[in-house]
Amino acid sequence: MFNPAITRLDGKKGLVTGIANEHSIAYGCAQAFRFLGAELAITYLNDKAKPYVEPLAKELDAALFLPLDVSTEGQLEAVFEAVEKQFGKLDFVLHAMAYAPLADLHGRVTDCSRDGFLMAMDISCHSFIRMAHLAEPLMKDGGTLFTMTYYGANKVIENYNIMGPVKAALEAVTRYLAVELGPKNIRVHAVSPGPVKTRAASGIAHFDKLIDEATERAPAGRLVTIEDVGLATAALATDAARLITGETLYVDGGLNILGVG
Ligand code: NAD
Repeated sequence: MFNPAITRLDGKKGLVTGIANEHSIAYGCAQAFRFLGAELAITYLNDKAKPYVEPLAKELDAALFLPLDVSTEGQLEAVFEAVEKQFGKLDFVLHAMAYAPLADLHGRVTDCSRDGFLMAMDISCHSFIRMAHLAEPLMKDGGTLFTMTYYGANKVIENYNIMGPVKAALEAVTRYLAVELGPKNIRVHAVSPGPVKTRAASGIAHFDKLIDEATERAPAGRLVTIEDVGLATAALATDAARLITGETLYVDGGLNILGVG
C-alpha cells in the first residue's frame, strides 16, 4: 500500500497541450510529469510556434510532437488518433490554453461581443470537454484530466474581464466531468496557479500590478513558479492522489485564502 511507486508516473502516457515557450505553465507541468517517469505527447499551436516548442519537446524526449490549434477542424481528433496509434492508451491529459480577442479581453464584460465570447468559450473551455470526450475511450485503466484556471473565476479581479466568466464555466465543467467520468476511474481537476509571467498573461492589462500584489501579499512570501505548478499537478496524476477528483486546486502560495483589507 505504501510502495514508493505510488508516487511515480513510470509507464504512464500523457498528452500535454499549451506549451508556447519555456515560460509556459504547461512546460513546467511537462517537466514534472517527465521527472516522475511519464512518457509524453506534446503539441504546438502552429508553424510560427513550432521553433519555440520543438527544442523543449526534444529535451522532454516527447514520443509525439504534433500541431494543435483547437479552432482548426479535425486537428484535435488527429492528435488523439496519433496518441492511440503510438501509446495504445492514455493516462493523463493537460489542457493549458486560453484565448479571448484582445478587444473583448480589454473591455468590460458588459460590452463583450457575441463573437468574442463564443471564441473565448470555444478555445478556453469547450476544448476541454472535447478532450475529455476523446480521452475517455483511451483511458482504459482510468486516468486524470487537468485544466488550468484562475482565481478570477470566483472573485472579480480587475482587468481579468471576460476570462473570469469563461474560467468559471471551466471550473463547473471540471466538476461535471469528474462526476460523469468518476465510475471509469477518470479523475478531473482544475489547477489554479497564482500569477505567472507568461505570454498569455501579457494579454491581461496591468498584469504587473497582479504580480506585485501577489509578491507582497502571498502567505508563502514569493511568486509561484511553473515548476511549483508542475510538481503539484504531476502529484495529482499519481496513484497517491487516486481518490481526489473534481477539485480546483490553488497553487498560489495561499493568495486565495486572503480577505480584503
Ligand atoms: P502561455 O501563453 O504560455 O500558454 C497559453 C497557450 O494557449 C499557448 O501555448 C497557446 O498556443 C495556447 N492556445 C491559445 N489558443 C489556442 C488554440 N486555438 N488551440 C490550441 N492552443 C491554443 O500562457 P500560460 O499562462 O502558461 O497559460 C496556460 C493556461 O494557464 C491558460 O489556461 C491560462 O489561463 C492559465 N493560467 C495562467 C496564469 C498566469 O498567471 N499565467 C494563472 C492562472 C491560470
